[in-house]
Amino acid sequence: MNALQGKVAVITGGSSGIGLATAKRFVEEGADVFITGRRKDELDKAVVEVGKNITAIQADVSDLADLDRLFETVAKNKGRIDILFANAGLLEPMLTQVATPEHFDRTFGTNVRGVFFTVEKALRLIRDGGSIILTCSSTWQKGIPGYATYSGTKAALRSFVRTWTAEYASKGIRANVISPGPIETPGLQELFGENAESAKQQFKTRIPMRRLGRPEDIAAAAVFLASEESSFITGIDLPVDGGTVAV
Ligand code: NAP
Repeated sequence: MNALQGKVAVITGGSSGIGLATAKRFVEEGADVFITGRRKDELDKAVVEVGKNITAIQADVSDLADLDRLFETVAKNKGRIDILFANAGLLEPMLTQVATPEHFDRTFGTNVRGVFFTVEKALRLIRDGGSIILTCSSTWQKGIPGYATYSGTKAALRSFVRTWTAEYASKGIRANVISPGPIETPGLQELFGENAESAKQQFKTRIPMRRLGRPEDIAAAAVFLASEESSFITGIDLPVDGGTVAV
């Protein structure tokens, strides 16, 4: 349980679901973790739940001033970042024919612009040998009605890590995406509302392992990509989806 001993990690969207499970694992593995989110009450709850070696910073990834404040705080307190997990994301399913410019800008503003500038602003602090991990989605490889903008944003992330590999691998900085399939998180629950149970049953029929993922499944993959165990792996997409995109 010391794969990340002494490392400094930043996790955007760390107060719920995948980000929170990853914050817990990173701390268990010895890291000092900064988490972000927009809702202060959720951040406060997360800090209590993780219990130690965690700092919460209220920040919206689609707001560049918030990102500046986040990294200024990390710089002041730790002076460096070893692991950046750009995980915050937005899904608003909408058929193309009814999609609005506002919907498009919100989705790309959080999932693409937000992630790009999270990394752009973090880079001055990421030490040689650091690890950048982005939460993508198995949907980037699929055609799903209503997912044009969301899957498009996640395809952009898959592309970003190829470029960042070319730009930073010589410094030993690695950049990879994790592509979750359906994961049982508060975000997924909220998306489907009262139809959540039937949606989960439908997902199960399409997942070779016949279950949804747990946030801990993604946290385990993030620990691997953050640690020395993956030291020669960069530029990849790691699907964590019970076999969905493989078949
Ligand atoms: P979740 O349970 O709703 O958690 C989302 C987290 O991100 C919360 O901490 C939320 O806090 C934060 N967040 C949302 N928008 C933000 C913003 N603009 N700035 C900063 N923080 C923000 O969702 P999740 O299911 O764990 O999803 C996390 C990531 O996994 C997303 O990128 C999503 O696209 C991806 N993903 C999820 C699934 C799935 O099935 N669950 C599958 C594939 C990919 P606040 O709301 O307080 O800001």
